[in-house]
Amino acid sequence: MKRILLILAAGLLLLLVVLLLRTQLFSEPASQGVVEPAQVLLDESGAVNRLAGALRFKTISRPGPGPQNPATFGPFVEYLKSSFPAVFSRLQVETVGGYSLLIRWPGSDASLKPILLLSHMDVVPVIPGTEKLWIHPPFGGVVENGVVWGRGALDDKSGVLGILEAVETLLRQGFVPEREIYLAFGDDEEVGGQQGALAIAKLLKKRGVELEFLLDEGGAITRGIVPGMDGPVALIGPAEKGYLSLSLSAQDTGGHSSQPPTTTAAGRVARAVERIQSQPFPLSMEFTGEFISHLGSDIPFVQRLLFANAWLFEPFIGHFLPENPALVAGMRTTTAPTMLKGSVKDNVLPIQAQAVINFRILPGETSATVTDRVTALVDDPLVSIKPYGFVSEPSGVSSTESYGYQILSRSIREVIQDPQLVVAPRLVIGATDARHFESVTDSSLRFLGVTLGPEELKGFHGTNERVTVEGYLEAVKIYYQLLLNAAG
Ligand SMILES: [Zn+2]
Repeated sequence: MKRILLILAAGLLLLLVVLLLRTQLFSEPASQGVVEPAQVLLDESGAVNRLAGALRFKTISRPGPGPQNPATFGPFVEYLKSSFPAVFSRLQVETVGGYSLLIRWPGSDASLKPILLLSHMDVVPVIPGTEKLWIHPPFGGVVENGVVWGRGALDDKSGVLGILEAVETLLRQGFVPEREIYLAFGDDEEVGGQQGALAIAKLLKKRGVELEFLLDEGGAITRGIVPGMDGPVALIGPAEKGYLSLSLSAQDTGGHSSQPPTTTAAGRVARAVERIQSQPFPLSMEFTGEFISHLGSDIPFVQRLLFANAWLFEPFIGHFLPENPALVAGMRTTTAPTMLKGSVKDNVLPIQAQAVINFRILPGETSATVTDRVTALVDDPLVSIKPYGFVSEPSGVSSTESYGYQILSRSIREVIQDPQLVVAPRLVIGATDARHFESVTDSSLRFLGVTLGPEELKGFHGTNERVTVEGYLEAVKIYYQLLLNAAG
């Protein structure tokens, strides 16, 4: 008996040593080395004014076939042309679809694979009823006290203008790239990117272009957003989740509600929703684990211990995690019932009831595997399950060891001279245009070098969208530095 206890104790001790050792090895030191500061000579006040001017165009995209609104997109493209004359006179500019632009800057060394900088010209509308909540008019392009205000300040005109600003500066300074550079600006990202980014990607594919990497929006430099981290954390998205909505509907004969059957169509659909919501998709520690491994020892010990030993803790991780929707969104395919419809009157039985559930799919699963799981959970042949709206599969996962990730990471550190800065990979939970380019590259990175605090974060598709002047100029400098490093 004593012997058994002794063996058990020794085993436990060994396990503890293994767990602690793995925890120690898991976390890189938070500081990722000092690099030479970047020297970027920018026309800073001009750059800020050009961004502010761009926010005054109401480039709200509309879904469906046909070009975007000529009354706003036409003048916006003209504005870009007059703001960046060197880009538009010296580089090869092509219009794709309605107003999307593909710009090519040939390189001197044809053996190097080209790179692509991507962003989008269109914006989402202002939510009706919130106009009065804006401190400055959403399409005013106001600059005040070091902040640029307006729809598109973050998503994504700071990308379009930032890229053009960096390239215009390099052209004026006489920079000659060795590596070919493409710039692409879609006009319909917010409505799916079919006529913009997807058409551009198909064009590149047809021409046999293979990219070393591409850079799109999707990550940023965060401050005060990652729990436990005091310094800035630059989040680069190596992958993005997929998007699927499923409609669940049931039919009935209807009739008077005073003589109801045992289950109405509304009850049937409600039961289906409950079955799906009470059985969430399994948690995966993969993406969040890699993210946390880059944050170093600033992250609480317990979290490091858990993620360093995913092989042991993954099946029970749900019991350890705090109620944190942002954290969980990076770890599973999420389930969000969003729309419900039944009878038109309280005393009339519904002849049809419908619910719509939105899923954000983790890489590794597909819209088909999600639909299969949902069908099995509902387990009711009288509930019909169909896709609703557009579907986007999760992207592939780009390696953090890749040339693109490494050179972007270095460029960020060269511009943001903060000893506390950490660069880390983070799964993007929304959809970006980058997903359309998987046929021309296996290295798609999602990052825009603006700085986001909790207040700025609310501006994405929301109210009071804004970017700090300092944050915007840093974004321009990171594009500039990346082009120098990757193409020079
Ligand atoms: Zn966007």
